[in-house]
Amino acid sequence: MSTSRAGAGWSPFLTIVVVLTCIGLVTSVPMLYRQHERSREALSTSARTSGWHAYQTQLEVVKAIGAIELALVDPSASRLSDARLRLAILRSRLPLLNRTEGNGALPGIERWREDLVAFGRMLDSYLDSGGLEAPAPGIRAALEAVRADLDAVQSTVQEIERAWITYQIGLHERELDIAENPKVLPGALLILSGLMLIIFLLVETVRGRRRLRAMTAAEEEAASARQNMRALIEATPALIVVYDPETLKISFINSFALALIHPSPDHQDWERFVATARSALPACSVDAPWGAFSFQRSDGTLLALRGRTRPLVWEDRDQCALILGDTTQLRDAEYQILQAAKLSTLGEMASAIAHEINQPLTVIRMAAANSRRLLENGDAPALAAKLSRIDQQVERAKRIIDQVRRYGRKPSLRSERFPLARTIDLAISFVAEQLRMANIRFVMDIDLPEDLVVEGEQTLFEQVIVNLLLNAKDAFEMQADEGAARERTITIRARVEADRIRIEVLDRAGGIPEAIIGEVFEPFTTTKPDDKGTGLGLSLSRNIVRKMSGDISVLNVDGGACFTIDLPKARRSLDDKVVA
Ligand code: ADP
Repeated sequence: MSTSRAGAGWSPFLTIVVVLTCIGLVTSVPMLYRQHERSREALSTSARTSGWHAYQTQLEVVKAIGAIELALVDPSASRLSDARLRLAILRSRLPLLNRTEGNGALPGIERWREDLVAFGRMLDSYLDSGGLEAPAPGIRAALEAVRADLDAVQSTVQEIERAWITYQIGLHERELDIAENPKVLPGALLILSGLMLIIFLLVETVRGRRRLRAMTAAEEEAASARQNMRALIEATPALIVVYDPETLKISFINSFALALIHPSPDHQDWERFVATARSALPACSVDAPWGAFSFQRSDGTLLALRGRTRPLVWEDRDQCALILGDTTQLRDAEYQILQAAKLSTLGEMASAIAHEINQPLTVIRMAAANSRRLLENGDAPALAAKLSRIDQQVERAKRIIDQVRRYGRKPSLRSERFPLARTIDLAISFVAEQLRMANIRFVMDIDLPEDLVVEGEQTLFEQVIVNLLLNAKDAFEMQADEGAARERTITIRARVEADRIRIEVLDRAGGIPEAIIGEVFEPFTTTKPDDKGTGLGLSLSRNIVRKMSGDISVLNVDGGACFTIDLPKARRSLDDKVVA
């Protein structure tokens, strides 16, 4: 999947920066260009105007000097008037030359500013004094003085003009420079922005291609992953059924499931299957625990299934997948072992059962002999009493035989709700005679409501209790020497605690040997001789209790073993169909 991340290094932030820089560069180029042109224009206009003023002033100085010279030669009224006029014109020029701001200001004029002001005042004094008004005797001397002052003005104005010329030459050189290297900066900026744009476009194109390639690769990868998953699901030896949790419409059934439930996905069995699984298993979720249930196929056979429901995205939709293992064979094998264990218990109990049946038979025999005698004597009322006694004893024998038959029958494959207190009673009555014969006292401390039901297979649960009681009896027998001193008592205690039920079977037969207490529920753990123990009783008991969503544990307490069974109450109370 590494390709899908290609190009991730070029962040959107960088893209924005590049685009903004390009826009900035492109817009700044014409602005710079325009500004450059404007300042050049302004500069040359200003230089030209200021140069013009300097030149005009110079001209006026020359003209004024000429007029003064002429007046010196011929100091007539008209010459004097000309001279005054020239001086006035020169005077009017000086402020233009002396400007320091605005268009036409001469660069560096500040240097001569004071001189020019002084010249202005001087000219004003000549013009205002009236000394040059009329040909008078001292006129020549006055004109000479003006002539001398004008020389100073001329040399200053010449200096100004020279400075202007130097500036003009510099300006010209700069213009030439600019003309030779036209628009270097804007050009460079344009090239730079163009380059950046090209790089940006190239990078974008490469990124786009990579993205496209990554997307195509990801799509191909996803498609192949989907294909692989489908192939895997098809090939897996588990039942997999995908359905919509809203509509319960099935969208996929793998071949294993088709072979096991029904080959046609449209068959109504499938609807029933999903409904059964949904009601038996914990709700569809990522961490849904495992659950088990049975399903009856249309041919009547009962499948045992174990698994869970998990959410998954299938065909681009959120759906649920039933993932189940077929545990039918395991269940059958387990039931066969259970049956064998039960039959072995029955075998062990044969002498006790025979002894129990023998008792009513002996009573019947005696009652029959007595009946014959009473018949001969014609004592009808006593005869009737004897016959009813026979009847009672037959009933007692029948009860014992029924118990044996019921215990020996194969367990049903279905889980049902059954009354707990009565089932414990049945188990106890089944071994009571044996315990009595072994001289073991039995204490029942059962506090359960009559209508309390649990869910499971009744005869199997009965077998759990029988196992625990017979194990306790065996423990007393194995501890014969020490046990003589102990109280030979087995206590069975049962209580409801909130929504759980707790059943304890305690004895005082020395407890479980420390060496095996940790693995006493593992198969084939036994301390009994080969012909007596298989080591399967407790392991089967644990399986039975766990299938009922409960658990069994053991502790050594008070010189004996205490087995505790913890069970949940059935989800529904005792109502329509409960095993009698
Ligand atoms: P088995 O009875 O065939 O040996 P179990 O699984 O029923 O198989 O019991 C395993 C072992 O646990 C027994 O062999 C015995 O050593 C020990 N055990 C079970 N119940 C008791 C008990 N009440 N007191 C002492 N030991 C016990």
